[in-house]
Amino acid sequence: MRSWLSFDDFPSTVRSFERRFSSKTRCEAYLYARKYPDGFVCERCASAATPWRILSRHCLLESRDCGALTSPMSS
Ligand SMILES: [Zn+2]
Repeated sequence: MRSWLSFDDFPSTVRSFERRFSSKTRCEAYLYARKYPDGFVCERCASAATPWRILSRHCLLESRDCGALTSPMSS
């Protein structure tokens, strides 16, 4: 019985993780579209190459060409 109960906990953990992940992705997409309506342009080197995304650092974007970090949060 104990093992059944702990096993039953597992799906809700996965669901809450997915909810958090998808809301973060939506937030990031919204901020990104608001700051770069015509597409990303690096503020340092003006590269228009699609930036790397650094999700673990709260939506920071890294320029592919110069490595500059930009936050879509700042305007
Ligand atoms: Zn750059």
